[in-house]
Amino acid sequence: EAKAKGRNTYHFYSQELNAAANERLFIENELRIALKEKQFVVHYQPQVDSRNQKVIGYEALLRWFHPTEGLIPPDKFIPIAEATGLIVELGEWVLQESCDFAVRLSEQGLENNISINLSARQFKDSNLVPTLSKMIIRSGVSAKRLHLELTESMLMGNVEAAITQLHELKALGISISIDDFGTGYSSLSYLKRFPVDILKIDRSFVKDIPDDTNDMEITAAIIAMAQKLKLDVVAEGVETIEQMQFLQNNNCFIVQGYYYSPPIPEYDLPNLYEKLNELSISEVTN
Ligand code: C2E
Ligand code: MG
Ligand code: MG
Ligand code: MG
Repeated sequence: EAKAKGRNTYHFYSQELNAAANERLFIENELRIALKEKQFVVHYQPQVDSRNQKVIGYEALLRWFHPTEGLIPPDKFIPIAEATGLIVELGEWVLQESCDFAVRLSEQGLENNISINLSARQFKDSNLVPTLSKMIIRSGVSAKRLHLELTESMLMGNVEAAITQLHELKALGISISIDDFGTGYSSLSYLKRFPVDILKIDRSFVKDIPDDTNDMEITAAIIAMAQKLKLDVVAEGVETIEQMQFLQNNNCFIVQGYYYSPPIPEYDLPNLYEKLNELSISEVTN
């Protein structure tokens, strides 16, 4: 009985492992095709000033529309692109798209920031700074509009190399933002040594506000610390008016999340402006 059960368990796991390995292999192959055939699109999620419902910037989020599989989420393919090195080419494309998007906004008089996620591999790449420098010149984007989002773990490996790379990026005029803040190897003493500009409070702290008092304390503490260190702070994953108001009451005014808008394609911007306008009117009259 036990033996039979053990064997079944083994089969079960090995089948699961196989399926996972196959999926990985499939995605790896398809990624190469996707790059050539331009199956990627960048969507943009607004970062809104909750005091006046004005968009201050957008985060660029990569989307893969596969011809037969449909939409494949970034969590499924970014780690594979990272492991295979394809992320460097893909990431460059996202940077280019984002620069061009920022320029189109500027042409409409909209001086919004664009935040772009960087992978560990891209950050370590010695070509990153020269590539970005060329991109900035080619596109004509103002470098101060560009914010690069890094995670804590990317900074912790080789600290000296990370500091040098950050200084070189900052010398281009770019701002640095720490994504998913509070979830990595947060080392508060390092935070002072890294030339960073913005902390993004991770969604995991925001999502259970106002039910989880621990998360509320942590969120308030991150905001207070950011203020003391003279860093800007952005809250991610804000879905409800209660969450927005809690953040506002604790001096975090820039929020990103479904409460205002999911990530959207560029052609949806007029709808976003309309929605924010309506929200503005309803918040004043309420
Ligand atoms: P992230 O940088 O932390 O991005 C925020 C994620 O939260 C996005 O997921 C966004 O769609 C989602 N989100 C935003 N507001 C809400 C909300 O109110 N509720 C909920 N439940 N979710 C919300 P997405 O687009 O699936 O991206 C997942 C991750 O993939 C990103 O996390 C980022 O780490 C990575 N990623 C996306 N695009 C790129 C890229 O171009 N390059 C690199 N290296 N990584 C990327
Ligand atoms: Mg991000
Ligand atoms: Mg994030
Ligand atoms: Mg996050």
